[in-house]
Amino acid sequence: MRIDPYMLFSVRRRQLLSSVTHTTNFVDEKRLGATLRTIISYGILFLFLISGSASALDPKCELVDKVKPDVEAIRELKFKNSPKCEVLNREDFYRFKKSQYDADDGGPGRLENEEAAYKLLGLIPESYRYAYCLSKEAGDNALASYDPRTKSIVIPAETESRADILAHELTHALQDQYFNLEKLQRRANRGTDSALALGALAEGDALRVQREYIDRKKQKIPEEKITDSAECALPPALNLQTEFPYTFGALYVDFIVARDGAASLDELFKDPPKTTHEIIHRERPAGVVRTTEKKFRPLLSESLGEYTTGLLLRSAVTKEDGYKIAKHLRDDEFSYLAGKKIRWRTDWDSVLAASNFKRALASVLSKRFGVRIAEAPNFVLAAGKDAVSVESVGNEVVLEISSTG
Ligand SMILES: [Zn+2]
Repeated sequence: MRIDPYMLFSVRRRQLLSSVTHTTNFVDEKRLGATLRTIISYGILFLFLISGSASALDPKCELVDKVKPDVEAIRELKFKNSPKCEVLNREDFYRFKKSQYDADDGGPGRLENEEAAYKLLGLIPESYRYAYCLSKEAGDNALASYDPRTKSIVIPAETESRADILAHELTHALQDQYFNLEKLQRRANRGTDSALALGALAEGDALRVQREYIDRKKQKIPEEKITDSAECALPPALNLQTEFPYTFGALYVDFIVARDGAASLDELFKDPPKTTHEIIHRERPAGVVRTTEKKFRPLLSESLGEYTTGLLLRSAVTKEDGYKIAKHLRDDEFSYLAGKKIRWRTDWDSVLAASNFKRALASVLSKRFGVRIAEAPNFVLAAGKDAVSVESVGNEVVLEISSTG
């Protein structure tokens, strides 16, 4: 999952800020599933958006100027210039989302490769139309977006004007003007883990401003109607993953501000967190964090990271155990190769952690392929058209799955 590759920050319906819990490290998925659900999306903003002319007069865009001074006061940064604003009808908004996904920098096959790789890994079900549904879901439910390439706030015409949502998007505009979000994003999007981590900082910051704006103005938040088409309802792991920048990001930013003061956020943008580990545990791991480079890249080569590993393990062990195991992940390299094959090398902080992961992984795989896997140091499994191997040496566990189907 590449969260938000071009930082087209969208705030999705169903976002209820007040219910973010400040007490736990782990997502209680039922509570969050029903409350703070947001999605962020992909791609490049097409030129037709900047060329919009009459839209500057749209009342929704006029509201942007009214909200600006409060955002400056809350965020303690002045706008260097005014972000553009564009209102699109839902159909155009959807088309625009779709074109963004299609134009993703991984090339036209990027989403299809991710879909195939995640299915082989078992992160999403076989039946889910990932490549198709990501833009559909985002197009249906976005309330507004900010795009750093064109410096524009984009608002679907059919949505109700909401000042707090604009405060949120304006915060992204400030982040962009001061810290060059586009550049940060390009770097972070080399991997799932780093994209989630940057997303958490950016969204946590924007949610904090949005929440303070609501308090300041005593703004009422309307009940949101959700359009969840049955065909594109997000599978649980994907749902939790897309929520991560908001749920964990809000907790992370509040923690940082309470500990180090609001100005420390600006310092963080200069050297942003690179792993979900850092967001979840609020500590920067010692040593250099490797960011997966695209230079040597089969079809996909990246790092899934702690949070996504936890999501995968939840399907086999109790969810809390899944996250506890994943906590000890030190580093990982996930590749999808031509010929429907994935290779996932994971590096753990101890031999014990590696063997705990391996046991949980065996259970994920037995469930997924419907074959009982006997406890063994290393195993190879043939399940119909699929061949699976898990090998470990010391702190390292390597999973390979290839499919001829
Ligand atoms: Zn946002």
